[in-house]
Amino acid sequence: MTRLKMLTRRAATVFLLLLAYTCAVAAQQLKLDYRLAMSQPSSHLFEVKIEVEIPRDAKPESLDFQMAKWSPGRYAVFDFAKNVQEFHARGGVCPRVEMTCTLPDFPVTRVDDSTWRVSMMNTHSATITYKVFGNDLSGTFSQLDARHANYNGGSIFMYVVNHKQDPVKLEIDAPKGWRIVNGRTDRPGQREWRFPNWDVMIDTSTEIAPDWTIDTFKVDGKSYHVVVHSFGNEGAKRPALVREIEKIVRAETAMWGPPDFDAYTFLIHFANDGRSGDGMEHLTSTQIIQSGMLADASTFADTLDTVAHEFFHVWNVKRLRPIELGPWDFTRPANTRGLWIAEGITNYYGHLMQRRAGIWNDKRLYDALAGQISEVDNAPGSRLMSAEESSLSAPFIDDAPHAQETNLQNTSISYYPKGEILGVVLDLLLRGRTQGKASLDEVMRRMYDEFYLKSPNATYYLRGRGYRNEDFERVVSEVAGADMSDFFKRHVRGVETPPYEEAFAQVGLRFIREARSPVTVGIGGDESEKTNFKIATVRLNSPAADAGIQEGDVITLFGGVRLNPGNLQRTVGRYKPGDQVPIVLLRGGKIMRMTLTMGPPLLFNFRIEEMPNASPEAKALRAAWLSGR
Ligand SMILES: [Zn+2]
Ligand SMILES: [Zn+2]
Repeated sequence: MTRLKMLTRRAATVFLLLLAYTCAVAAQQLKLDYRLAMSQPSSHLFEVKIEVEIPRDAKPESLDFQMAKWSPGRYAVFDFAKNVQEFHARGGVCPRVEMTCTLPDFPVTRVDDSTWRVSMMNTHSATITYKVFGNDLSGTFSQLDARHANYNGGSIFMYVVNHKQDPVKLEIDAPKGWRIVNGRTDRPGQREWRFPNWDVMIDTSTEIAPDWTIDTFKVDGKSYHVVVHSFGNEGAKRPALVREIEKIVRAETAMWGPPDFDAYTFLIHFANDGRSGDGMEHLTSTQIIQSGMLADASTFADTLDTVAHEFFHVWNVKRLRPIELGPWDFTRPANTRGLWIAEGITNYYGHLMQRRAGIWNDKRLYDALAGQISEVDNAPGSRLMSAEESSLSAPFIDDAPHAQETNLQNTSISYYPKGEILGVVLDLLLRGRTQGKASLDEVMRRMYDEFYLKSPNATYYLRGRGYRNEDFERVVSEVAGADMSDFFKRHVRGVETPPYEEAFAQVGLRFIREARSPVTVGIGGDESEKTNFKIATVRLNSPAADAGIQEGDVITLFGGVRLNPGNLQRTVGRYKPGDQVPIVLLRGGKIMRMTLTMGPPLLFNFRIEEMPNASPEAKALRAAWLSGR
């Protein structure tokens, strides 16, 4: 027997022992009471208390309290533990009537970057306290300041390892005069909630402030609350905003049928800081942050765009979900191939629903779709990264911070536009090939029915079970009444350009592709440079890359013309593909000479227009697509 095998056997024994131990504890529910306070808002410190009681017949030596590394809906790893301070554990729980009592300190060991181990000292209860710094208004982080507290639970609340599935109670102590609201508020003045598990608690983003407003409307017997906290001028536009949101709710529920909740809350901030902007989906709410003020026309329109996207998530991703999306392991990023469906197809419908709701006209939708196609088709990464790979790369590309330089601008494509264009192409092909009998609407409804409504619950976390990409492919083929596997092989797992012309022609639309300029160099200028043409980006497989130009080079002469940040297009436009152009550049203070061979166009503009001579059948399909009827 080799050393390796010995180690394996010993490791296996230890693992089995651990498993037996953790199962014994995990099988018995803990009593978990969370308490959130914010006694000094300007310190940005949330104060968390967790009172834990262990069943009498369980005797764990210790309990592990862990901070998540990321939170659902944003897939990059942020390590929320970095903002935790002053973690303490004490034996026992103070009786409620006597809010302060003296409890003995319990030993705490920091086990790793995210985990605090509390020795239970042969007792059955403990009180854990810690503070978390939060000063980011976003869909993932949290903010506490003199104006408000707005938190996303994943960045605030630790879970007990192996006990995420246990029911939890939450009590919030708000500063005097501050009111609390979230997507599970069901009575005025509420400050206590019970959640079936930790996952649902952190799915319930909460706003606490003296001055938010609430407007309510009903659709099909369900209540919808629009909570607004404005840090800028509203221009008396709130009633109009609420009316437009109601149109979106009506358009989306018309497609899906009744949502699985009694009430839903749109939690909207107008940050008026030109910087904060986000949208995050939850089971019974969405957290939306706009960087402008409601009075701005562009902010008003952006808000509706975000609302249409986030509300579609009520079905697509929050309930109909890829199998990897819940319950989660928060110690490592979630990996799923399905984000092009969960996010990309949601992006498509977010746009389409604004047309169906009567907020956008036809041209506005066509321009939005052409814009998405432009983003994908002009990105070199979309020739390298498939929709599935893009989904798997989410931890790198979903707002992830990068300490090192990366080549992602050349090698990656976002699953939002990539999924959106696959969504529209699939939708129109399905409509065309079935003479309007089938559509992507039907695919989504069938998926929701099969995986959310009708499947037995697979885990503690939520109704139904998650789907695999293969399931989605099967349902598309079933709805199409034809084998669609070739589409998935070429355009979902492969990187071939989707058949845009064919798809738009089904509904009497012409797809037009025009070169942005007759030639390509493949360089982008540094926008912070006002006088010199300094290179910020070099496109993969471009004439500039072939010539050996690199980021940071300053091009002084281009074919004898002095280049500046304003004259690149004009200077380059004099050439045609194949022309040899001498250039002079500065690299690290040294003058270098190179010859560039101009290439064919790599960047295109796209337009979608109505065909003047479209057939009545194609026009009827278009009307059904745009109206959802
Ligand atoms: Zn607020
Ligand atoms: Zn989304």
